Amino acid sequence: MSNKPILSLSGIVKRFGNQTVLNDFQLEIANGEFFTILGPSGCGKTTVLRLMAGFELPDEGRIELDGTDIAQVAPEARPVNTVFQSYALFPHMSVFDNVAFGLNMAKVDKAEIDTRVRDALAMVRLADYADRQPHQLSGGQRQRVAIARAVVNRPKVLLLDESLSALDAKLRQQMQVELKMLQRQLGITFIYVTHDQEEALSMSDRILVMDGGVAQQVGTPREIYECPQNVFVASFIGEINAIDGVITEQLEDLRYIAKMADHHREIRTDKVFSVGDHIKILLRPEDLRIEYIEDAPDKPGFIGHVRERNYKGKTLDSIIELNNGMRLHASEFFDEDDPDFDYRLGQKVWVDWVHGWEHVIKSESQL
Ligand code: ATP
Repeated sequence: MSNKPILSLSGIVKRFGNQTVLNDFQLEIANGEFFTILGPSGCGKTTVLRLMAGFELPDEGRIELDGTDIAQVAPEARPVNTVFQSYALFPHMSVFDNVAFGLNMAKVDKAEIDTRVRDALAMVRLADYADRQPHQLSGGQRQRVAIARAVVNRPKVLLLDESLSALDAKLRQQMQVELKMLQRQLGITFIYVTHDQEEALSMSDRILVMDGGVAQQVGTPREIYECPQNVFVASFIGEINAIDGVITEQLEDLRYIAKMADHHREIRTDKVFSVGDHIKILLRPEDLRIEYIEDAPDKPGFIGHVRERNYKGKTLDSIIELNNGMRLHASEFFDEDDPDFDYRLGQKVWVDWVHGWEHVIKSESQL
């Protein structure tokens, strides 16, 4: 993957009637990356994709593809193809003819069409399916035909709109792996739209998380999961425990003393805070440690009671209700030799986390 942007959106404004869906929207996508636009329903992700495809035109702003402004260029004149959720295959045409359709329309030489279609089908492992009709294929195979059709004319960018959402959970997981492998093999920039955070985490080189038409964060899956910039990103990308605190003392090396609930403890961050700042300490369920106690231990931590426990195979997930009413979600690797796992609903527990694993942000919004 080179770092040169293949696609760059700047100052994009998009209105539908009197609703402004995007306002001064910016985005840069690097050549060859698998980029995912993730967000809840109605956040504007499809609108961004349709602007890239040319199905919508921006009211203001530039869309540059490889350095050329294409904001007002017709969809068919852009070196960009789209794979829709429905795949939109022609039902009465063979797999071969479906894939060849665009090349036939462009009056490409017959021998050239034959070579390119067979190459594209081989790439999606459907070389033996050229004569079948779409109804004789599984959902996953149909999707692969749609991808072969979309890459056969060698676009610079492939746009995929919730392309896996029609598949059942198992096939969907398989296709996530396949899609990522295919993207690497083709070397084409893939821009994938989804509201499914697991899908985004497992497939993408980078993710844009959107809400209300606004980019909340752009980063690698790890950056988004481990260092969310705000509570929206933290909670949209998985389960999060957001514990309120106040900075009461500044130590050296970005270490602080924070007051949370009824105790003080040291925290370490990658940001600068001042005494008096209100913060949120973000902890993933797997960051929490639970110990079962009879009496309150003489050390900092949270005391609560087990309200829910769910065996999940690899992990034991629980909900701990703290004495102040707050609920924490914990997820620990299941270890049947550890007597601590033999806990019961209602039991009193002490909750802690490994120092340094907390991710701290300024408290600007409530969960
Ligand atoms: P979903 O996951 O449900 O598809 P989305 O994040 O893709 O949602 P968009 O389809 O981009 O969201 O829609 C963003 C906003 O723009 C919504 O409020 C939607 O109602 C509005 N919108 C989208 N297309 C049109 C249109 N053609 N006419 C009017 N409003 C539209």
